[in-house]
Amino acid sequence: MHFEAFFPALGAKLDDEDQRLMMLGQEVERRAMALFPEAAVIERAPGLDPVEATLAVLEDEPQAAAQGTLAAGGREVRFDVLRRFGDAWELIEIKSASRLDDSRHGADLEFQRQVLEEAGLPIASLQLCRINPFARSSDPLELFAFDDAAAAARKQQKRVEAAAKDLLPFLKSPDLEPPRRVGARCRNCRFQEPCLGPVGRDHIIHLPSIGHGMSRLGEKLFSEGRERMADVPEERLEKEGDRLARRAVLTGEPIIRPGLKEALDRIAWPAFFVDFETFQHPLPAAPGVQPNQVLPFQWSAQMLSGPEDRAEPLDFIDLESGDPSEGFCRSLLAAMAGSRSVVFYSDYEVQTLARLARRGVPGAEEAADLFRGLGVDLEKIVKSGIVHPDFRGRSSIKVVLPALEPEFEGRYKSLEVQHGGMAVMAYEQARRPLTTGAERDEWRRRLVEYCRLDVEAMAVILRALNRLAIA
Ligand code: SF4
Repeated sequence: MHFEAFFPALGAKLDDEDQRLMMLGQEVERRAMALFPEAAVIERAPGLDPVEATLAVLEDEPQAAAQGTLAAGGREVRFDVLRRFGDAWELIEIKSASRLDDSRHGADLEFQRQVLEEAGLPIASLQLCRINPFARSSDPLELFAFDDAAAAARKQQKRVEAAAKDLLPFLKSPDLEPPRRVGARCRNCRFQEPCLGPVGRDHIIHLPSIGHGMSRLGEKLFSEGRERMADVPEERLEKEGDRLARRAVLTGEPIIRPGLKEALDRIAWPAFFVDFETFQHPLPAAPGVQPNQVLPFQWSAQMLSGPEDRAEPLDFIDLESGDPSEGFCRSLLAAMAGSRSVVFYSDYEVQTLARLARRGVPGAEEAADLFRGLGVDLEKIVKSGIVHPDFRGRSSIKVVLPALEPEFEGRYKSLEVQHGGMAVMAYEQARRPLTTGAERDEWRRRLVEYCRLDVEAMAVILRALNRLAIA
């Protein structure tokens, strides 16, 4: 917050995925605004003070106002909608979520309530305007639902007051730096470099339990000046995973844990290595598709007769249908026939099939049963079987692949679609009404290339693990 307030230019740029999420939020807000035709929308323009612009609109006593900014006690809030509620106001927050999250939305609304009341606007009602997951059309009256968020906000009152008391002094001057809250968020923080300096593989933010949100350990170690794993005595680390990660980094050698070979030996051959790509959007992606419905539009696979086997890739990709789910399941069942194991990375594939089965998609129940019965989660084997100095507390395929096989370093970066978020954006681009057939083919090629690499990566990781397990 301190960096965001005083040194925003020091942070890394928002990536395409962050920008997409921001635009998604704006699109949801734009659609929801159709529900408040009476609201005076407060203009934002360069050189226009947003607080003064809001006060000017409120002076005209509108029935409702939208997208305004008010400030009090050193804090500033941008509200979505304020609507007259008797002698007071109703505060409405618009979100792309499908349900009220007591903690997150409650804290957000409570913070706004406190600032608005201090600015002189009594708030008598707090509402969350969110996506109705059962909507069958894009009509805003059906697409959005309202939750009374007063109780959720009340529960967060003390927490919000404490956080404000804690943080406000540091927002008064750029020279006052708050203590570093070193924890899970640091790994993806856009201010990581200016805040922590160069973060090599031996930085404490790469201890696995810090990555799981146990930031108290990170804060404590950091406050003692122990930023590098070598500064942390082993006995200070309670979790075995942290101790092993530290040891692997300090020795520079991977540690093979008991049971790795047995876990690998449980894979029966031929094995079907498979990866899914899916699309999910808070607004209905096509006629008849519900908000946030998971649309599986692509799988890639290889059927391998043994760990050293190489096979031609098998693919399914549908960029044309409004809902590709049925073709996805049927083609998957046909391709995996005869396999004695199904190998995937994380339980995302099983979860996706279970969701499709709940929706009654033909073939999904059978596929889900096969995945559960024959499934081998390679990520689980990685997590329980090996601690590597280059894993940096993570187990994602993009980190594990080059750590185990350095010749794959940079392979994902060389692709036009490099990760799941980009695959979602590629799918969106391919399905835009103005996208030509040739452009769609190009997106298809990029997506196939990406999904195939995930499958190849699994086979490569498995071979590397086999070598390490018998070394
Ligand atoms: S790197 Fe960590 S401590 Fe520093 S600003 Fe980011 S989240 Fe906060």
